[in-house]
Amino acid sequence: MQKASSFFSNLKCRECGQLYPKQAIHVCDFDFGPLEAAYDYAAIQSVLTRKLIESRPQTMWRYRELLPIDGEPTVGTQVGFTPLVKADRLAEALGIRELFIKNDTVNYPTLSFKDRVVSVALSRARELGFEVVACASTGNLANSVAANAASAGLKSYVLIPADLEQGKVLGSLVYGTQVIGIQGAYDQVNRLCSEIAGKYGWGFVNVNLRPYYAEGSKTMGFEIVEQLGWKLPEHTVVPMASGSLLTKIHKAYSEFVQLGLVGETPYKIYGAQATGCAPISHAMKRGSDLVKPVSSPKTIAKSLAIGTPADGYYAIHSMRKTGGTTEDCTDEEIVEGIRMLAEYAGIFAETAGGVTVACAKKLIASGAIPANGSAVLCITGHGLKTQEAIQGKCGSPRIINPSLREFEDQIYQPDSRSAAHSSTSV
Ligand SMILES: *Cc1c(COP(=O)(O)O)cnc(C)c1O
Ligand SMILES: [Zn+2]
Repeated sequence: MQKASSFFSNLKCRECGQLYPKQAIHVCDFDFGPLEAAYDYAAIQSVLTRKLIESRPQTMWRYRELLPIDGEPTVGTQVGFTPLVKADRLAEALGIRELFIKNDTVNYPTLSFKDRVVSVALSRARELGFEVVACASTGNLANSVAANAASAGLKSYVLIPADLEQGKVLGSLVYGTQVIGIQGAYDQVNRLCSEIAGKYGWGFVNVNLRPYYAEGSKTMGFEIVEQLGWKLPEHTVVPMASGSLLTKIHKAYSEFVQLGLVGETPYKIYGAQATGCAPISHAMKRGSDLVKPVSSPKTIAKSLAIGTPADGYYAIHSMRKTGGTTEDCTDEEIVEGIRMLAEYAGIFAETAGGVTVACAKKLIASGAIPANGSAVLCITGHGLKTQEAIQGKCGSPRIINPSLREFEDQIYQPDSRSAAHSSTSV
C-alpha cells in the first residue's frame, strides 16, 4: 500500500489558490487568505475504501490519508471515534423525528473535540522539528495542548483569558504546562500569540500551525458519516467559536462524496452561537457575510466567546451553500439546553453543548429544521469543566441524618405509594 505521506501535497490559499510548501505558515503572501491543506484526491481514491477504513483501529487516525502529516501520527494516536448516540427521548422533547448526539464530551484525553485538532497539530509540529508548542485558547484547546504535549515530551505554553472557569484553568495546570492568564478578551490573547509566534518561532497550534490544526476537525464529520452507516446526516448543528469546526465538517462531508465513500444526498449545516457573542450568527441573520467584531463578549459560553472569528466568513458560506442557517441563544437558554441534554439523553455537556441544544430547539421550533427530519447535534465538551454555569440551577441534595425514620419522614412516604409497596412485599 502507498504510504499516507504521499497524499498530502501542499498548503494552498483559500482565496487565490496559490500553492505553498508544507511549512509552519498560515497566510497567503499575496492576499492574506488563509492557507489550507491540499491533497492528491485521485491517489487517495485509488486506495481508500470503506473496508480499509473499517479494518483500522477506532480512532480518528483511521482517516489518515485525509490528514496533513507526512508519516505516522506520533501525538494523540488514540483520539477520536467518540460515540454517536441515538437520543430518542431528547428527540421527542425537542419535537423532531430522529436525533443523534455526536458525543465529544468523552473525547480522549481531555474531554473535548479539541483533542482532534491538537493530535494533528502536534504530530505535524514534531515533523517540523518544533520543541516548544503553544496556543491561544478559550480553555479546551489549552487543556488539550497541555495534556498531549506532556505525553509527547514537548514543552508547552498556553495563553488564555484570565477569567476562564476554574475547571479549565486547573485542567491545564495539572499537566505542568506554563499557563499564562491574559487580562483581556480572547482576541487580545490571540494577537499577543501572533507576536510571540513571529518573534520566537514556537509552534502555535492555532496560529502558524493552524492549517494542520484545522484539518483535525474533519474527523468529527468523517465519523458521523461512518457511524450513520455511511450516510450523510440530513441536518447537522455545530457550535461556532472561530467557525472552523463548522467549515471542516462541511469539508469532511464533501471529501467523502468526492471520494465516492458516501452517496450524495442533501445535507444542511447549521451554526450555533451564544447571543452574548454571536458575530457569525448575527452577520448571517443580516444576510451578510461581513462579520462585525464583538469587542466585549458577554456569555457563560466562554469556550465560544471569540469576538473576531477567523473563519466566520467561510462558516457563513458553508451554511449558505448547504441551505442551512444559524441561531443564537441567551445564557438562560444555554442552562436549559445543558439540563435537557442531561435529563433526556444522560449526557453532561459544557456550556457550548447547551448552546447547541438550545439553538437546535429553536431551529426545530421555527421549522428551519423540519419536525419530520433527522438531525445530528455536535456536542463538543464535557460539563465537569464548566460547573459554574449550572451551580445552584439544578437544585441541591436533600440532607438527612443516617436514619430510616428521617428517610421515611422527609424523603419517601410508603403510605402514599402503598400499591407499589404492597405488591413488592407479597
Ligand atoms: C473550540 C470549541 C468549539 C468551536 O471551535 P471553532 O473555533 O469554531 O472551530 C466548539 N465547542 C467547544 C467546546 C470548543 O472548545
Ligand atoms: Zn492567496
